Amino acid sequence: MFKNLLKQFSILSLIITLISCSSSQTVISQEQNIQQAKHVILIGVDGFGAYAFEKAKIPNIRKMMKNGSYSLEARSVLPSSSAVNWASMLMGSGPELHGFTKWDSREPELPSANLGKSGIYPTIFSLIDTQLPKEKTGAIYTWGGIRNLFERELVELDYNGETDTKTVEKATSFITEENPVFTFIHLDDADHTGHKLGFDSPEYYNEIEKIDELIGEMINSIEEKGLLKETIIIITADHGGDRKSHGGKTLKEVQIPWIAYGKGISNQGKMNSTIVTYDTGATIAYLLGLEIPEFWRGKPVKESLIK
Ligand SMILES: [Zn+2]
Repeated sequence: MFKNLLKQFSILSLIITLISCSSSQTVISQEQNIQQAKHVILIGVDGFGAYAFEKAKIPNIRKMMKNGSYSLEARSVLPSSSAVNWASMLMGSGPELHGFTKWDSREPELPSANLGKSGIYPTIFSLIDTQLPKEKTGAIYTWGGIRNLFERELVELDYNGETDTKTVEKATSFITEENPVFTFIHLDDADHTGHKLGFDSPEYYNEIEKIDELIGEMINSIEEKGLLKETIIIITADHGGDRKSHGGKTLKEVQIPWIAYGKGISNQGKMNSTIVTYDTGATIAYLLGLEIPEFWRGKPVKESLIK
């Protein structure tokens, strides 16, 4: 019954939209243009392979999986290296188009197929700047290499925390004090330990567990401020790891977690969607009601939303 009512309502709004709009293109953008939440937070955990979920003690993240939507079979782009994947995540496209191809790319090795007004392939920050110009955004990252992969002049906060603790502290105060529409948080300590001691070492899991605690504390602070009910959190990774490295073509390196939790997100748990890391940018754009540029290749993970 409720479903039928909803259906009727949708048809009615479509008719109204059709009457009030002169072109069919406008209809499409109006239909998409529903902002799901006031705040979207993307937490990217460097080197957090999906394999790690078998052993990691991560109660806060597991709670979000249980009460949200997730896949442990999302994939990085190839190579399974850092900068190429962070760029793909933020730029909604693969390396063939944005041109960042290495673990430490500072500029595209392959000329970008499209350039925004900041002179790089447009990221989610550029979409927000153009379509929600009054809203605040921030990028807070432990690894300094992130600074080359987005339009630094378009964000209200651009901060290299250097340790995950400082990064999360800064991000928490930014979110709770500045009311940003989008915050990107990059955490690096687990990847660092993976390279030093192994991606399956007890020390690596210690770092993952510390990250889980930091995320838990951040969520508590957001909840205390009354903002959680208007927030969506996405947790994912750039790549996994095997022994002491990554960049290769094993599932341990390529399979990454993709978890969405919060306002308007289904509590179905495991999803069936096929997800590649460039779908993250597209999903954030969709959740914020933004028009996704034609040249982006990512698709929103619509399965994660309440139907
Ligand atoms: Zn990485």
